[in-house]
Amino acid sequence: MAECQPGVVRRHIEVRGLVQGVGFRPFAHRLAHELGLTGWVRNHSEGVSLELEGPAARIDDYLTRLPAELPAPGLVDTVTTEDLAPLGTPDFTIELSEHQGGAVALILPDLAICDACRNELFDPTNRRFGYPFTNCTHCGPRFTIIRDVPYDRVHTTMREFVLCDDCATEYHDPAERRFHAQPNACPSCGPRLTLHDAAGAPLSEPDPLPTAVALLRQGKLLALKGLGGYHLACDARRPEVVDELRRRKHRDAKPLAIMVRDLAQARQVALVSTAEASWLSSPAAPIVLLTQRPDRGLAPALAPGLTTVGVMLPYTPLHHLLLAAFGSPLVMTSGNLSDEPIAHLDEDALTRLHELADGFLMHDRPIQRRCDDSVVKLRDDQPIFFRRSRGYAPAPIALDDTAAGVVLAVGGHQKNTFCLTRAREAFLSHHVGDLENDLALAAFETGIADFERLFDLPPTVIAHDQHPDYLATQYAVARASRDGLPIIAVQHHHAHLAACLADCGRHDEVIGLALDGTGWGPDGTVWGGEVLLCDRADYRRVGRLRPFALAGGEAAVRQGWRVALALAHQAEVDYTPTSVEPRRVDAARQMLRSGFRCLTTSSAGRLFDGFSALCGVAEVSRYEGEAAIWLEGLAASDAGPLPFGQGTADGLHELDWRPAVRAVVGRTDGLAALATAFHRGLAEGLAELCQVVRDESGRNVVALSGGCLQNVRLLGLLSEALRQAGFEVLCHRRVPPNDGGLALGQAVVARARQRG
Ligand code: ZN
Ligand code: ZN
Ligand code: FE
Repeated sequence: MAECQPGVVRRHIEVRGLVQGVGFRPFAHRLAHELGLTGWVRNHSEGVSLELEGPAARIDDYLTRLPAELPAPGLVDTVTTEDLAPLGTPDFTIELSEHQGGAVALILPDLAICDACRNELFDPTNRRFGYPFTNCTHCGPRFTIIRDVPYDRVHTTMREFVLCDDCATEYHDPAERRFHAQPNACPSCGPRLTLHDAAGAPLSEPDPLPTAVALLRQGKLLALKGLGGYHLACDARRPEVVDELRRRKHRDAKPLAIMVRDLAQARQVALVSTAEASWLSSPAAPIVLLTQRPDRGLAPALAPGLTTVGVMLPYTPLHHLLLAAFGSPLVMTSGNLSDEPIAHLDEDALTRLHELADGFLMHDRPIQRRCDDSVVKLRDDQPIFFRRSRGYAPAPIALDDTAAGVVLAVGGHQKNTFCLTRAREAFLSHHVGDLENDLALAAFETGIADFERLFDLPPTVIAHDQHPDYLATQYAVARASRDGLPIIAVQHHHAHLAACLADCGRHDEVIGLALDGTGWGPDGTVWGGEVLLCDRADYRRVGRLRPFALAGGEAAVRQGWRVALALAHQAEVDYTPTSVEPRRVDAARQMLRSGFRCLTTSSAGRLFDGFSALCGVAEVSRYEGEAAIWLEGLAASDAGPLPFGQGTADGLHELDWRPAVRAVVGRTDGLAALATAFHRGLAEGLAELCQVVRDESGRNVVALSGGCLQNVRLLGLLSEALRQAGFEVLCHRRVPPNDGGLALGQAVVARARQRG
């Protein structure tokens, strides 16, 4: 051991945060080298450990610069230090990881290819020129290749690929961008592309990419193995090709996202603000919902009847190569049949997609777990998440309170995500989808087991929706009884609003306005347009939309004309749908008169459907919410608000929509004016309802949540009306207002109740 110099100290340092898979250790190494410090750095399952030896002042300098200079997306959460006796260590080394039990380090989401890697990809002199799997410590796959923690190559699906000499040199050189880049690869040692025909038979193509592009040019549908699963890709400009995709995928009208070559191409098809451009090009690279240009040259069937189009930029080197070769926008939609989960395993993709695709562009880097593309829309430069998945999950959502134990919240029935919490963090899962079929249910169950293992978080309590028939609820009940765990049922809209409170870091009691599709109400009716006085632990229902009947029950969800009949019936005006057989209309009218097969609801989503029909915009929806989205798209005139009234019933304040129904029927000033008038009237009526509740409760903060708040027109008008009335308004920023954020809310309620 070397002689220790005077003034030299040694410290053990524990760092927590987003510190694995982000180039932390090379960075720590470079900084130590620069400051002339010795010691070591090591990943472990809770974070990173360092030991530093040298003059005390320089170690202090190190600890100041470490959190400040760590390159994005790395993030230092906490640093703790402990003094040790100096050992006279001669240099600074990166030690191999050791697996320890206990809590777990954060796992990074998948990151879009960085600028440096993209430049190399298109540089003919670079050894990775045209190589579809290049990455570095600042970019590439993470969540979708991790098998186990800590994040080291042997714990990823890259384990089978042995580094060549060149790659190994980079991997071990602290000066390199690829120093300890776990998925590091090159054409001679890494994953390779293969092309397969529709039956899955491999085609012996020396270079599969040009052949795949030729297929796309012929108007064929290509199954493309991406980052978190298979996409179906095709030419986004050719109507007959997009129609064929819809026919094979059994997808009537739900909008399809496109991938464009770059921002310039995005601007050719849509309006792109500065903020939208930065979201498109962020490391998460989500689908951003943009306003279409009228002369955009895309197939009309991409987003039938809509003014928006979902656009994303290439986020893997393979996408970049494909788009560069194809030249124009490609439809890039999840590889699945209607509501099934996205295919991510090769065998499964070949089985499930062989009737959908004309060919498969595959590779031999396994996808460990599926992760759908995220979807975001901006309003006033602020994000509204429609889906929080690839690029975000499983990065923790920081909570502003702490709690003992681990909550597993199982989420809802549609757009399912689940959530695990520990101390000050919530791990909200990737998008699981609608739990409508066995495959989705299996994805849900294996997803939960996977998260519990990966994060080493065995639940101590389970939270679920109050709806007894949700498959997620049934899982929660069975699991709690099997494991002997306490279980907490959370009302659907309380969960929505609690998610908003957690999203905004609030603990006080607020006026919660839930504008939603449907959720189980404890009074036996279907809730969805509710005013709750609530905090994180509890709620009291104080107001609602005036209830109406859903003739035919759940069938009314996609048949706004049935809602319109009920609204007109109560408002005592005449309305007859124009596109529905008279026989069916008569039957629905008969149900309304007798109450037979009618549910009672206060759902805001259904009110939108009903007004969409009354206004003559759409009498049926091909997917939930279509009629409402059409109505939103039209609402851009300067028409004044429809009149809404205030009332009371059953001890609740009510927004009375009957005056608005009467005002609509017989009005002939055009769809845009009607749509605008409805949005304005509803926003102003809801703001008035909140004022009534404020007068009674003294609360001056309104939290907004529920699926209807994906409607940016409504969100804008409502926020404005509430602010004009002097309210503070809380909106979602990090999680979706729709059921994709429900699990977070359930977990937050469970934590608050356990504390209470
Ligand atoms: Zn990179
Ligand atoms: Zn190599
Ligand atoms: Fe909901």
